[in-house]
Amino acid sequence: MSVVTTSQPGIKTPGNYINDVMALVKTKNPAEPEFHQAVQEVLDSLRLVLERHPEYISARILERITEPERLIMFRVPWFDDQGNVQVNRGFRIEMNSAIGPYKGGLRFHPSVNLGILKFLAFEQVFKNSLTTLPMGGGKGGSDFDPKGKSDNEVMRFCQSFMTELCRHIGPDTDVPAGDIGVGGREIGFMFGQYKRIRNEFTGVLTGKGLNWGGSLIRPEATGYGCVYFAEEMLKTRKETLEGKLCLVSGSGNVSQYTIEKLLQLGAKPVTASDSDGAVYDPDGITHEKLSWIMELKNAKRGRIREYTDQFKKAIFMPTDLKLGYNPLWNIKADCAFPSATQNEINAKDATNLINNGVKVVAEGANMPSTLDATKLFLEAKVLYGPAKAANAGGVATSGLEMSQNSARLNWTREEVDQKLHNIMIAIHKTCFETAETYGTPGNLVNGANIGGFLKVANAMLDQGLV
Ligand code: NAP
Repeated sequence: MSVVTTSQPGIKTPGNYINDVMALVKTKNPAEPEFHQAVQEVLDSLRLVLERHPEYISARILERITEPERLIMFRVPWFDDQGNVQVNRGFRIEMNSAIGPYKGGLRFHPSVNLGILKFLAFEQVFKNSLTTLPMGGGKGGSDFDPKGKSDNEVMRFCQSFMTELCRHIGPDTDVPAGDIGVGGREIGFMFGQYKRIRNEFTGVLTGKGLNWGGSLIRPEATGYGCVYFAEEMLKTRKETLEGKLCLVSGSGNVSQYTIEKLLQLGAKPVTASDSDGAVYDPDGITHEKLSWIMELKNAKRGRIREYTDQFKKAIFMPTDLKLGYNPLWNIKADCAFPSATQNEINAKDATNLINNGVKVVAEGANMPSTLDATKLFLEAKVLYGPAKAANAGGVATSGLEMSQNSARLNWTREEVDQKLHNIMIAIHKTCFETAETYGTPGNLVNGANIGGFLKVANAMLDQGLV
């Protein structure tokens, strides 16, 4: 390993170094609180590593790992159904390619901005490293809102978006996937436009349709993987998911397959939500009710409150930001699977969950817990599976889709599910053992951050100052 030696005056102890880097990140990226939060969490864990490995300080790995390798921002003009011109903003953050091509989802949501995508891209670097597969980290998307748009409008937007993005991505360069607001429909429209412009049929996107290069189990992978991770955490206390009452937020891709796998393993999911509010079904969401939710969300594109019209015992709790907490997290339960969006669990929600007896929190969404909430879970010795580990099954299966595309073959459902399951077991093992090695047993936040960091940082040292 070649060590770069540009030691900086004034950067002596790991503590000083981390404080200086954090201050720099805030100065250079003002008004990006989510990015600051994601960096802070990782840097806090890395204090333990830097004490043992000063070479990362002299090579200024932290300044480099927090600076995107490339940042692309572009105009996305499109016509709506009335013939009016609409203009959105498109982004791709190519964060780190030390261990493989950039890989990470595209998010279409009105809240999307540079800071949110930088946080997601930064998280992705460590998550992809944990999967054991050779994938760098990236993320992208647009402030376009697919809600309420016709299929034709979504298609015209996706085509315009890909017209620019296609010059920056490729199967060996950068391979985007779905995220919030980007599912099979959007991936299809974008793949079609990429193929038309580049005249290439390649695995440039993952989450593709099964007839044109997609992998079995990719739609299920994030939710299934998160439940497998929860299972591994429970095993350390000789428990299983059988009979456990589970709270799930969201009702999109991750939530749907989290609920499905929970049902397969004998647990009882009782909630689902969207941005308008949450439904609580004391009888439990069964396979039949889940099929109804999938039809509502994936085909009719309806709202979760309609569940209570269909299933009369369920109640709807509308979103009320003035409350300061989410009633979904204030229901007596054993496990929680936040699967909607970032910062959906604040300190008050975490306190409610702990007081209601929740023993497991497995994060399907990215960074769904605030730093204060995370701290409370760790102090209360909750089995806490941080997002970059617990939801890595999605990108891992994207990696498996890339392998199948390169080899031009298709694995069976069972083969992919088994590989996904093994990867989740391996990720849990890495996090668990790394937490022990660095003197914080049971702290999977440290385990995930350090485990993900080491591989990337060592590759950066090997590859010199690039
Ligand atoms: P999705 O299919 O678009 O579903 C998102 C769900 O979250 C919807 O129910 C949505 O409700 C809800 N939601 C979104 N923004 C919200 C907000 N600000 N407040 C309350 N609810 C909100 O997206 P997804 O793929 O399931 O992604 C969910 C989370 O998992 C995200 O954090 C994503 O980054 C993470 N994740 C996804 C994957 C993947 O493979 N898809 C992999 C790893 C991590 P509305 O319909 O009302 O917006």
